[in-house]
Amino acid sequence: MAEGCLFCKIASGELESSIVYEDDLCVAFHDINPQAPTHVLVIPRKHIPGMGELEESDRDLLGHLMLIASEIAWMEGIDEAGFRTVINWGHDGGMEVPHLHLHVLGGRTMSWPPG
Ligand code: 5GP
Ligand code: ZN
Repeated sequence: MAEGCLFCKIASGELESSIVYEDDLCVAFHDINPQAPTHVLVIPRKHIPGMGELEESDRDLLGHLMLIASEIAWMEGIDEAGFRTVINWGHDGGMEVPHLHLHVLGGRTMSWPPG
C-alpha cells in the first residue's frame, strides 16, 4: 500500500466504494463520476503507479485484470452490445489517479477518436 494513494485506500476498504467484484489480486468498483451508464474501474491490490511503471513480474496480474474486466462486462450486462476498456497514463493520457486502473465503459455507443 502506497502512502496517501486513493485507490490503495479503496482496495484496503479504508475508503468506501461501490464494489462490484473483488478477489485476492484485484478490486472492481463503480466510478464516482461515471462517463457512461456502466463505468467500472478495475484495480490491482498491488500499488502499480501506471502503465509506465510496469514490471515483467506484473505479466500474470495484467492478464488477470483483463479477464476480470471481461467478466465484469458480462456481470453488468454490457457484453453482448459491446463495451470499451481504457487505461490512461501520464499527462497526455489524462491519468488523474496514479494507481493503475482499467476503465470498463458501456451502456451507450462510444465515439472514436476519444477526446
Ligand atoms: P483516470 O483519469 O486516472 O484514468 O481515472 C480516474 C477515475 O477515478 C476517474 O474516472 C474518476 O471519476 C475516478 N475516481 C476518482 N476518485 C474516486 C473515488 O474516490 N471513488 C471512485 N469510485 N472513483 C473515483
Ligand atoms: Zn495505490
